Order: sequence, then C-alpha cells, then structure tokens
Amino acid sequence: PLLVLPTGEQQILVACRIRPMTEDEILQGGTIIAHKVAEDNMVVLLDPDEDHDDILRANRSRERKYMFDVVSDARAGQQDVYASTAKILLGSVLEGYNATVFAYGATGAGKTYTMLGTENNPGIMYRTLHDLFVEIKKFEGQREYQVSMSYLEIYNELIRDLLAPSSSFLELREDAKGTIQVAGLSELITKTPEEVMEMLHKGNRARTQEPTKANKTSSRSHAVLQVNIKQRDVTRSHTEQVRFAKLYMIDLAGSERAAQTQNTGRRMMEGAHINRSLLALGNCINALSEKGNTKYVNYRDSKLTRILKDSLGGNSRTVMIAHISPASVHFEESRNTLNYADRAKYI
Ligand code: ADP
Ligand code: MG
Repeated sequence: PLLVLPTGEQQILVACRIRPMTEDEILQGGTIIAHKVAEDNMVVLLDPDEDHDDILRANRSRERKYMFDVVSDARAGQQDVYASTAKILLGSVLEGYNATVFAYGATGAGKTYTMLGTENNPGIMYRTLHDLFVEIKKFEGQREYQVSMSYLEIYNELIRDLLAPSSSFLELREDAKGTIQVAGLSELITKTPEEVMEMLHKGNRARTQEPTKANKTSSRSHAVLQVNIKQRDVTRSHTEQVRFAKLYMIDLAGSERAAQTQNTGRRMMEGAHINRSLLALGNCINALSEKGNTKYVNYRDSKLTRILKDSLGGNSRTVMIAHISPASVHFEESRNTLNYADRAKYI
C-alpha cells in the first residue's frame, strides 16, 4: 500500500515550491538564484558568491542541482501545488490509511501560504478538506464517513489548542496500546468547506507569532491540523467494518537557525526547541528511509514526533513540501532547506 506516482510506488513524496520574489526582495536588489528546470523536477540553485576566491580555487561549480518528485515555481498556483501533492493522498486516506503533509522551510519561504493560503485563494488544508467531502458524497449509501478536526500548536515543546485558545497547555498521554493522545484537545465535527475555512482562519489567528530580527512575523510554532476520518460500511453489519484514518497537515516552524537571527535569551531557547522538533522529525524520516527491518525510529525525542508516531512510516504516506525563496539574499537558507529535503526523499 504505497503512493503510486508516475515514478513508481513510494511511501514519501518530496516536493519543492519556489515562491515568487517579494517586493522587499526586489527592493533589496536581490536577484533570482533558484530555478525550476523546465519539464524536469529539478531545482538549480546558484551560489551568488560567484567571484568568491574559495569557489574559484576549489574549482567548485556555482550550481547545485536537486531532484524532487515535484517542483513548482512562481508560475504554479495554489490548485496546481495541491493537485500535485496532498491530493494524491486522498484515495488512501478514504481507504483507512494514515497520512501526513508537511510544509518545511525558513520563515518567509511560503509555508503558511501553501498550507493555509488566503481567504480568496486558499491553500492545501482547505482544498484537501473540500475534496474529501466531495469524495465522501460519492460513497453515499455504501459507506458512512464522519470527519472531525483538531488544530493545535507546538511552541517551545508546549502544546496549545488553537480551536479553544487558553493559557493552559495540553499533555500527551499514551494508552495501553501505545497510542498517543493529546489529553483534552477539542475535536470539531465538520460537514462543509465553509466551516473548515472559518475554523482554519480562527485557529491561525490564535497562533503564537512574535517578532524576531529575521522576520517581523517569524513563526516559531508548529501548527498541526489533524483530520480524523471515521468510516463505516453500511452494507454490512453495524458492528463490523469500522475504520479510522488520520490525516495530518502541518505548517512547521521556520527552519532557519536560531543563531542566524542573533537571538539571545528566551528567543534563543525557542530556537533550540524548534530545532529539537525539526531535528527529531529529520531523524525519524532518515531512519524510515533505511532499508530493512532493523531500523530504529526514535519518536520519543520531541512532541511533534510523538504525536506523529502512527502516521509516519508503517502503512502511512508522507508528503513533504520544501519551501524556498528564489532570492539571492536567502541563499544560505535555501541551500539548507534543499539539503534537508534531499535527505528526506529516499524512503
Ligand atoms: P512562512 O509561513 O514560510 O513564514 P509565508 O507563507 O507567510 O511564509 O510567506 C511569506 C510572504 O510571501 C507572505 O506575504 C506571502 O503572502 C507571500 N507568498 C508566499 N508564497 C507565495 C506564493 N506562492 N505566491 C504569492 N505570494 C506568496
Ligand atoms: Mg508561516
């Protein structure tokens, strides 16, 4: 039970989205250094230090090339990006398999635009739920589905409910079967895309957003949308054939290093926590990519990976969308992001 892609069957799909230049980047005199190679799922990143002595001496290439399953650039709209990534998971989620979609990248690279989007041009979260309701309708009379959602934030390794914001934090509990639950997390049953849209924007306004030197609206929190899909086959006995699937859609915290923003004190500590969750996630994905049954996946290292324990690896599917700015001023960040995504793809 794997993702069936044009490139064959695989458990993880790794995509890269290069957003358009922002006005700020143009005003800063930035040039475009990240390109999608037409017809190919390749990203070419140019080192802007072309005359740098080290590069010349080492005879290194100015170009770094990265291959992904899907690459989108400024020409791709929200529907294009959705259709080539999260949409592919719908079929298996409806069959009862868990799945996760991650938006990875530095602050300002376009993660929230891809996942949440704007009210006029919504992102993956909305489009996925919209199509899920459309698909469910097709099964009327054969299968009954109930869709419910939770939306939480992990900030400093502390969990907050974005649908019922309060100052208290939620704890993780593990039951006898080893299933992790977020104790007290609210769960809303949703039936229409409009309800979903309203809920997402309300939840997003409740996210912790604080200024740092890297970006005015730097997001240091991971926003985790959990969609629970309960399915019952109505053509058989009512006591049988109940299936559950979980679909996570996650807007990860900015992946830039804390050091880059010259933060000290509290902000620095936040950076360390963010790295802990992102590092743990990277380690889990790398472990899953190793062939054979001896692999050891350490989910316990962070809140994020504990929550995702039964939705990474095993029978689950994963879509990772790496986000980069095309601008020369963000070369280091883009290179780090492309390297991280490059390591994720060999599952
Ligand atoms: P992140 O969540 O990674 O910090 P954002 O999604 O907030 O980044 O994007 C930063 C800015 O760039 C926002 O103003 C956003 O509207 C804009 N932006 C991001 N991606 C795109 C895109 N694909 N097309 C147009 N504007 C975009
Ligand atoms: Mg964001």
